[in-house]
Amino acid sequence: MGLHSRFCTRSAGLRRCRRHRLGISEGLSHSLLVLFTLLSPQLGFGAAPDVRVSLQRSPGEIHWRAKSWQIKDAASFARRGDKDTKFSLRWLNSDTVLTIASPGSKFSSRVELPLEVTTDNGEAGEVGFLPPRVVIRFHEGTFQMIGLMSLNDYLLGVLTKEMSDRWPVEALKAQAVAARSYTLAQIEKRSAEDFDVEASIMDQEFAWVRDRSSESAQRWWQMIQETEGQVLKSPEGKVFKAYYHSDCGGQTTTPETVWGAADHYDAVSDSVCSERTSNSWRVTLAKGNIARLLGISLNSLKPAPPQTKLGFQFDWVRSPFDERVTLVEWRLSPEEGQLLTGQNFRQMIGFQKIKSTRFHAQDLGDRILFVGRGFGHGVGLCQWGSRDWALRGWTAEQILHHYYPQAQLIRLAVEQEPKSLACDPGDSRRPSSLPRCGKNLPTPGVPVSRVSNRIMPIRR
Ligand SMILES: [Zn+2]
Repeated sequence: MGLHSRFCTRSAGLRRCRRHRLGISEGLSHSLLVLFTLLSPQLGFGAAPDVRVSLQRSPGEIHWRAKSWQIKDAASFARRGDKDTKFSLRWLNSDTVLTIASPGSKFSSRVELPLEVTTDNGEAGEVGFLPPRVVIRFHEGTFQMIGLMSLNDYLLGVLTKEMSDRWPVEALKAQAVAARSYTLAQIEKRSAEDFDVEASIMDQEFAWVRDRSSESAQRWWQMIQETEGQVLKSPEGKVFKAYYHSDCGGQTTTPETVWGAADHYDAVSDSVCSERTSNSWRVTLAKGNIARLLGISLNSLKPAPPQTKLGFQFDWVRSPFDERVTLVEWRLSPEEGQLLTGQNFRQMIGFQKIKSTRFHAQDLGDRILFVGRGFGHGVGLCQWGSRDWALRGWTAEQILHHYYPQAQLIRLAVEQEPKSLACDPGDSRRPSSLPRCGKNLPTPGVPVSRVSNRIMPIRR
């Protein structure tokens, strides 16, 4: 399934829109780029596609709550309410059972997924606030909650998590463009899948921003508006998958050394990060702790012959050009070894402990000392470097060119979202002095044509 957009014309003062689907076979250059660039102002608008954000996966059961809500399933079940209500979905005897509990009332019903939930005040455990439009599916014993939202709403939820809004404006703009490019590239890549992005570091961290009057939300919204339509284009003419990370430690790296992916990337030297000493880190970990996290039983290790250095001993294979650990190898016995990529090693030990793959390790007997520089995977835009370059007077475009020298910054023509974030979401039961929100309003009858019943494996 391809991307959807709306083509709009004006007639008798009314804006008339029709949904248009662009087939996947047409490729990105004939979808996103054509979608945005060929829709001239005379025709109306080219709207950015909705983003399908995988908010939560939960085996067997899923919960949320809302005060005013509408809900409907794929068959004929439909309810609405305006009390504080708790919802749970359970898989029971080959059926999906929805329980709705509000003060003085509780009932359960079999429902057919996907379930569509529309609310402007929903919450769900670790997910936090829910976006106004949510779809819940079930596949292979796991419920999956997917939020549907505009590109700009999604970017706001990413950017407020990714970087301090108090950093220099040009760094914020560069980050906004990088996040937009990454998102559009993922939308294209996953157009046949059930969601576009995960609300985690698997893609980009995300949390729905409900309080849009905050200084942070207002500032980021302004950055989104001021970079509206700006994306990076790859040498192949597609939207560039713009990875970014916290701090490169002095040199960025390429996706191949981290994930084995084949994206076209250059590693760049980043002198501001070489100069900064606050990106140095060190941690000492007990070998027993490391073994537990890697799933190795130290007791099962055979004693190493005295003339060798075997046993629970690691080898660290470094990329010659940027000193990053690409492979970690250890011996269970003289005959048997195991291997892990540097990035997977970080993931299993903990991203907060092994803060980057740019490290050296020292064997201290029953412990290992790790000494490193930088935070994150090291590919693409370096956030701390962006900040420092912006402080030295670089523009967002210069920053983007520095970290993505192979990509070209282009501007796509897109529909403008409201300039102000402060708006009434449209609940007529509550008086409001604010103007009504625009296209971000939750709309009954959420289109779920792009949501099927399959689950995408985790990307990295
Ligand atoms: Zn850097």
